[in-house]
Amino acid sequence: MPRAQVSLIRHRPPRIERGHPWVYRTEIARIDGDPAPGDDVLVVDADGRRLGTGYYNPASMIAVRLFARGSAAPPPDLWRARIAEARARRDTLLPGQTAYRAVNAEGDDLPGLIVDRFGDHLVVESLSLGVEVRLSAVVDALRAVYAPRTVYLRADAAVRRLEGLDDNSRPLFGGEPPDEIEIDEDGVRFGVDIRSGQKTGHFFDQRPNRKEAGQLLAGAGEVLDAFCHTGGFGLQALAAGARHVTFVDSSAPALERARQNARMNGFEDRCAFVLGNAFDVLRTWAQEGRIVDGVVLDPPAFAKAKAALDAALRGYNEINLRAIRLVATGGYLVSASCSQPVTREAFVDVIARAAGDNRRSMRLIALRGPGPDHPALLAEPQGDYLKCAFLEAGDGWSGFATRPARPLANPVAPS
Ligand code: SAH
Repeated sequence: MPRAQVSLIRHRPPRIERGHPWVYRTEIARIDGDPAPGDDVLVVDADGRRLGTGYYNPASMIAVRLFARGSAAPPPDLWRARIAEARARRDTLLPGQTAYRAVNAEGDDLPGLIVDRFGDHLVVESLSLGVEVRLSAVVDALRAVYAPRTVYLRADAAVRRLEGLDDNSRPLFGGEPPDEIEIDEDGVRFGVDIRSGQKTGHFFDQRPNRKEAGQLLAGAGEVLDAFCHTGGFGLQALAAGARHVTFVDSSAPALERARQNARMNGFEDRCAFVLGNAFDVLRTWAQEGRIVDGVVLDPPAFAKAKAALDAALRGYNEINLRAIRLVATGGYLVSASCSQPVTREAFVDVIARAAGDNRRSMRLIALRGPGPDHPALLAEPQGDYLKCAFLEAGDGWSGFATRPARPLANPVAPS
């Protein structure tokens, strides 16, 4: 039972009552007891009704993250129970898979805890103080549920600073993980560097979208995979039958990994790799009048907070405007945004305006989110961030010429 009790102010929106798991510092009226940073606290409303139990961080704007609701006491083996539930969810939704996001923080009722599974190796991201002070319980629970060979902590995410946590990435169990861990993702092999790759080394959220993009681009001659990271989208296109992909990323290690992944899959003679700013590459290709059969845009989050929204929308407008110029009639644009403050509607509107400004008809084939290993609570909009639009390019109607049909586009000699 928590030793301290946090009472909330009376006048506030009923967000927590509706299932949102965060208590903001500004919503607290009084704290009885003297909780240490990271301790469990009981949260009650202004009339003393129990809202839930969570971990407390006086240094964060998010003062309490609830892991149990109402008057229910959290299970005594909370970590093991929740991690096992999260695993059962994956066993149902991704049967037979061994590489996926195993715990998606709030979305799996484990606020601030992310775990990615790469077969026998697990990578933990701890994004809240409550998780940080309980890492040994987390590791015990992960060992009980997954029997992994290693568990590694990535503690370098920028949001940790908002929780007053610094970078202390290190092995938590089983010693150092291998430098490269190989996974199979829908028939494509990826080498993953969990210690120094971006985030945990691999972006699992786009997995089903990479596969779907591969299917759409199977007949493509030339594809531009902008913001390619380790090659996820382009490699799926090559595996499906696309003839040639140009991979662009501004990170040398990511691009080098993409090159190695292409080699590992036997695709290296159907690839080009460009180290640079994708904004510039898109501009240059558009100026040169290049035509391709598919463009993938999967940039990093341009807006992490609402304050950056306008600049983010301008960024999305710019890259989509240029990409739409490049795609052959009948070709495809796969355009993603992982900026949480950009809604689905706003994102589709940006692409629609980019198409309109190009005097070009674009058909929305599908608008997807992340895969099922990234569950989000309906009550917590912060967990809903990824949009991935699949569009088929139609004709232009004014301003510049109608694009050639796909068979004429950018012929690449068969290898
Ligand atoms: N599509 C990838 C994930 C992309 S993550 C996949 O499926 O795995 C976003 C990538 O954009 C990162 O690799 C980052 O290095 C790269 N990036 C960030 N800013 C960039 C820029 N201005 N130009 C090119 N790449 C950029």
